[in-house]
Amino acid sequence: NDLLFGDSSCVSCGACAETCPTAAISDRYQSKAIKADKKVRTICSYCGVGCNLEVAVKGKEVLSIRAPWDAEVNKGHTCLKGRYAFGFYKHPDRLRTPLVRKNGELVPVSWDEAYDYIAEKLNAIKVQYGADAISGISSARCTNEENYLMQKFIRAVVGTNNIDCCARVCHSPTAWGMQQSFGTGAATNSIADLDYTDCMLVIGANPTSAHPVTGAKIKQQAMKGKTLIVIDPVRTVLAELADHHLQLRPGTNVALLNMMQHFIVEAGLVDHDFIENRCENYEELVAQLRQLDIGKMEAITGVPAEKVKAAAIAYARANNAMSFHGLGVTEHSQGAKTVMLITNLAMMTGNIGRAGVGVNPLRGQNNVQGAADMGCQPHQGAGYFEMSAPENQAFYANAYGVLSPTSPGKKIPEMFDAMIEGSMKALWVMGEDIAQTDPNTHHVVAALSQLDLLVVQELFITETAKLAHVVLPGASFLEKSGTFTNGERRIQRVNAAVPPLSGTKTDGQIIVDIMNRMGYSQPAYLGEDGAPDTILEEISHVVPFFAGVTWQNLGDNGLQWPVQKGGIDTKILHTDTFKRGKGKFHHFDFSETTELLDNAAEFPFILTTSRDLVHYNAGTMTRRTHNSEIVERDVLLINPADAAKKNISSGDITRLFSDRGEVELLAEVSDKVKPGVLFTTFHFPEHMVNNITSSVCDGDTMCPEYKVVAADVERAA
Ligand code: SF4
Repeated sequence: NDLLFGDSSCVSCGACAETCPTAAISDRYQSKAIKADKKVRTICSYCGVGCNLEVAVKGKEVLSIRAPWDAEVNKGHTCLKGRYAFGFYKHPDRLRTPLVRKNGELVPVSWDEAYDYIAEKLNAIKVQYGADAISGISSARCTNEENYLMQKFIRAVVGTNNIDCCARVCHSPTAWGMQQSFGTGAATNSIADLDYTDCMLVIGANPTSAHPVTGAKIKQQAMKGKTLIVIDPVRTVLAELADHHLQLRPGTNVALLNMMQHFIVEAGLVDHDFIENRCENYEELVAQLRQLDIGKMEAITGVPAEKVKAAAIAYARANNAMSFHGLGVTEHSQGAKTVMLITNLAMMTGNIGRAGVGVNPLRGQNNVQGAADMGCQPHQGAGYFEMSAPENQAFYANAYGVLSPTSPGKKIPEMFDAMIEGSMKALWVMGEDIAQTDPNTHHVVAALSQLDLLVVQELFITETAKLAHVVLPGASFLEKSGTFTNGERRIQRVNAAVPPLSGTKTDGQIIVDIMNRMGYSQPAYLGEDGAPDTILEEISHVVPFFAGVTWQNLGDNGLQWPVQKGGIDTKILHTDTFKRGKGKFHHFDFSETTELLDNAAEFPFILTTSRDLVHYNAGTMTRRTHNSEIVERDVLLINPADAAKKNISSGDITRLFSDRGEVELLAEVSDKVKPGVLFTTFHFPEHMVNNITSSVCDGDTMCPEYKVVAADVERAA
């Protein structure tokens, strides 16, 4: 009798309401027979699957959301976030006026007053400390056009390369690592290729929660009998279905992937033709793999060598094998190195360049691919041209009509360090709650508190907005037009279903306004038909792989980049050659994270974090919908053996603590985690799980190591 709906196995995706032949189950507005004025096709703004949505609108109100059956991405399917978690857009908490801090309080002001305040402050900081004392963080929830404008504002108007986005804290190791191996840092294939694959390798990803429509497709293929290999410290839904679940110790991906490569080479299951014709550095790799101490790797990973060998051979023997990876690969001190070892597996078995194969990162945020494509990173501008090269500086100077910044930009963790040290004076954050989502919260808050100017563009008063000097009310995806690029490089049209709430503006319009206010004239942001086609046209001239993109030719199902003139797109990358010429093999030895070397003696558990199906990241949007009635808090999973030793039962409140701080969480005793491993989510500011995560980063890209935290736990008093 105590069971709640949230305890059932229903994933609340709405497929029953979508397909019920008798209409016995239907969405609420349909059962009330309210007639919509119009239906608008747009794209979900939660995860990187990029599901198409059909939004039913009456007046200025969204009645319901369904999934179009002709959508190539999701074919009539969504998860409960895309279909039902839209009520946040008109929640009473929505910001409806700009706020400026006066006498310590954020008080309502006009747009003109807010813009004047910002422009005056930015100009004064630039004169006193130089442009490099100013930085910007763009938003993977915003459109390509808005991200392009944000980096253009920071580079062309402010005059610095200090621009970054949340890819820093999620898939920057994917982009960088795949660039080293292939020359292009994006998914090689499409999700539809699942129909053509024989083997799915899912590593460090829990797609049934974090990418549910893709997760459901993988599940379907596994249930049809295709081989499924899951490499994950947690027994996820897919792990329960898998033929091979390699439940490794968090942080040991490199050791495990080295074992897999070793067994494939030893078994003679490599594709010699592919390696000879299309790759380089193979002999050097093999020399290293032959020396691998398998017994030592077995002890490091905690996975028996025979299990690893069986999985490796299954992957190598498949006619077509696809890999999918997530933040359980990237958010580690060896994140980018792990990505390169995944590319090794694909290349040594010839699983590149045709349908049903490839390396396919599952991108977290709806437009994190687009934010990086548009140049929201310090080292590469729009289209991934290195900002350090004089010829690229000249290219952007020609495109933007002003000199390009020449000094290297700062990545997000470097921005925080510069704030603490005193050389970074201003930060503009568009649509990201860094005070909740970035690791080591105390460090982040201490850094933000040092600023002379913190501008936050947001829907709500987030933990970051609470610290701001100026808060500007932005608009949600339901209120704006533009494009998002999903995890399979598909550029899709986002169409406004309702106008921005009174008092708010689209994020793109805000950036255009401030550019104009600071003397850099911009054309009108939206055309007469309400589409940002002028800015999309500018992007098509600057970003080579957008060359053939127009608002019109994107159509309903979008185009996958690179898009040639005439709108010819690309479903599969690297079919004949790699972008860098030959694909490059890399070898890396396993190296223990400093987080454990420094702290494991005092804090003997390893905490690892991930997302829940019901909520999304900081929960800013989903917590303001009925989803919060299904899941209302973060929960700590602890293995039964550990729980017994610590005298903890399910339902107890625990104190979870690390070198950085402590949080209180409800315990759930579960054998989904092995002894010594703890697991939780990070959706609720009431818990602030990032109080205890560390500042350790990936050595190549500075992506934080959220997945390995030395911690301890006890029953709260
Ligand atoms: Fe939105 Fe992702 Fe769910 Fe699709 S799978 S509806 S894109 S959250």
